[in-house]
Amino acid sequence: MENIKGKVIIITGASSGIGAATAKKLAGEGAAVVLGARRTERLEELVSTIRQNGGEAVSKKTDVTSAREVQELVDTAVERYHRVDVLFNNAGLMPLSYLRDLKIDEWERMIDVNIKGVLYGIAAVLPIMRKQKSGQIINTASVAGHVVSPGGAVYSATKFAVRAISEGLRKEESPDSLIRVTSISPGAVLTELPSTITDPQLKQNIIDREKFHGISAEDIANAVAYAVSQPDGVAVNEVLVRPTTQIN
Ligand code: NDP
Repeated sequence: MENIKGKVIIITGASSGIGAATAKKLAGEGAAVVLGARRTERLEELVSTIRQNGGEAVSKKTDVTSAREVQELVDTAVERYHRVDVLFNNAGLMPLSYLRDLKIDEWERMIDVNIKGVLYGIAAVLPIMRKQKSGQIINTASVAGHVVSPGGAVYSATKFAVRAISEGLRKEESPDSLIRVTSISPGAVLTELPSTITDPQLKQNIIDREKFHGISAEDIANAVAYAVSQPDGVAVNEVLVRPTTQIN
């Protein structure tokens, strides 16, 4: 793949699933990856695997609900590699529930991580990328950012928001700052994502759906790598990747 080697790529939510698979993929293509999440043992293990395979990686404990910690993650990249080429805003959670169950704490958590976490990432890299007059911000939406299902109102709201933020960012920054903006919308992917669902029936439905349809985190990593690998003048703005058999 062209145009990945040598890039400095920050990934949030890199301790499992899509984030971890993407870190391995991009490091394997020659990028230096800067990895953030809360579970530091997982991050350290991933960094050591990448290094054993000849790749370049560093990690920093990051809770994306803290603007300061997200800034420190970006500072780590700049201190070590002196630039930021790509931010993959991937951290997210999906505690599905019916609105009538009033799981207000879970609504707030989704808004904090899935929306505000993405905004904190944008805030931390935008001044750098504007100055560089180059860069790419990849935000993780979802098929749930295109369609709404019962039990998914708030999760979908956060992912619709991610797509709106991505589109606004593109229109504001791409023409002059030459920053490429990508919104990636995965369908059912086999990861730890259902672990945050507290409604037993909704959790089982998702686990069953993912067992039946689920594609791998590596399949999404390939889509991210495709978007990163395009020539600088080519922006892949929207990617929607479903398992072939998934309808909604
Ligand atoms: P995982 O649960 O495997 O990964 C989620 C990642 O987000 C973990 O690394 C977790 O790290 C991190 N995370 C959660 N909360 C925080 C936080 N407060 N601060 C920093 N990191 C956090 O699920 P996926 O890989 O599937 O999810 C990745 C993204 O893909 C999410 O945005 C999700 O919404 C999206 N997505 C996933 C789909 C799927 O079917 N799997 C479908 C569509 C979209 P840690 O706990 O260590 O902090």
